[in-house]
Amino acid sequence: MAAPLGQRTVVVGAGPVGSLAALYAASRGDKVELYELRGDLRDPSTTPLNFTKSINLALSERGINAMRHASSPALLDAVFKETIPMYGRMIHGEKQGKLFDEAQLYDVHGRFQRAVDRGGLNKTLLDSLEEMPNVTLHFNHKLIGADFRRNLAWFSDHSSSSSSSSEKEVHFDFMIGADGAHSAVRYHLMKYARMAYSQEYIDTLWCEFQIPPSPTNTFKLPSNYLHIWPGGSFMFIAIPSLDKTFTSTLFLPASLFASLDAAPESLIPFFTKNFPGVVPDLISEPELLKQYKQNPHLPLISIKCSPHHFAASAVILGDAAHAMVPFYGQGMNAGLEDVRVLFDFLDAHPASDYADSPAAAREAALEAYSAQRTTDAAAINDLALRNYKEMSHDVVSPLYRLRKFVEEK
Ligand code: FAD
Repeated sequence: MAAPLGQRTVVVGAGPVGSLAALYAASRGDKVELYELRGDLRDPSTTPLNFTKSINLALSERGINAMRHASSPALLDAVFKETIPMYGRMIHGEKQGKLFDEAQLYDVHGRFQRAVDRGGLNKTLLDSLEEMPNVTLHFNHKLIGADFRRNLAWFSDHSSSSSSSSEKEVHFDFMIGADGAHSAVRYHLMKYARMAYSQEYIDTLWCEFQIPPSPTNTFKLPSNYLHIWPGGSFMFIAIPSLDKTFTSTLFLPASLFASLDAAPESLIPFFTKNFPGVVPDLISEPELLKQYKQNPHLPLISIKCSPHHFAASAVILGDAAHAMVPFYGQGMNAGLEDVRVLFDFLDAHPASDYADSPAAAREAALEAYSAQRTTDAAAINDLALRNYKEMSHDVVSPLYRLRKFVEEK
């Protein structure tokens, strides 16, 4: 074990990545304090991050393997119970006036990804954390400052029912920042580490829709696929949910969203032309219009930075370190993998190898982690950008088919 018993580990952000990191730290005997800006997700009055409803994600082996190593055998069973296998993608279109769909399996051996509700997965992780006696959860706490030389952090505490907030000073041995793309930990870390940083907003926004179950309460599409209506520079996708709905996402260049906003009457013709079979079979016209107006049109950011840590004090994980566009389905999976890789490095650098200095051991581990992970994260980021072209366009191009054919021979 890398850490001595009782090390005070502060985790900022109780999203999927922060919650898993807290579980890993707690299972090594750390005194873990998890601070989260928002209320407890398990409380129905808490609005999911940015959304009217939690989004569906593709959970793949990268993320599953990280949870497998969380020292809580029941965790994966609980997570899997709330997932739906997706064996491939199903491409939808129209040829000579006729609707067609084509299933493309992910794997010749039948391996699959799992559709999971992000909020549901997050709740399962929080439930596991609550069972650990050495973990305390602090909801409605926002990180507002940090000193990584004196190992102090400041949080504004909005947890009382009155509208006022109070400020709390917290001492830590080790801080894990998993506070998402607009990370406050990263912002403060930059004042200490010589961090190279870049961010890019791609020219695509996304808007979420729900496809309801059929009148007989069945899925309206085959449930074991990620459904794609490719459109070239845009696309519509649908991922199954346990309640027999599909959570769908429209990805569209900002200028096209602006045109549709300016002329809402063109939304139905746009869908009919580009995403055949969606309206009215899967979503009624009034529902489509309502959801388009009601649900936010959100940006997509891609972030790279290096290093991901400062000295022995702090490290950033997940979207805080490498937010990526969602087209490779790997943002959360890569964030969960960060946790496994980080703790592998911490375990491989025991204090006994560093004159019994936990800080020296941790510093060496974080340096090694950052060196490996910044390169890997940048590579996944680039692949995610590249996969937008694949999903929105190449899935139907003759060249793609030829390449696939040759690969499979
Ligand atoms: P977050 O989920 O952003 O959690 C960060 C937490 O920190 C939040 O709870 C926030 O409230 C809290 N916080 C923020 N600031 C503070 C502060 N100052 N103090 C305290 N707490 C704070 N990934 C996949 O793996 N597969 C997919 O199929 C997939 N599809 C996606 C589809 C879309 C449309 C989008 C937008 C993303 C998708 N992703 C997917 C990416 C995935 O959602 C993210 O990578 C993942 O949620 C990141 O987890 P995280 O815990 O790092 O950050």
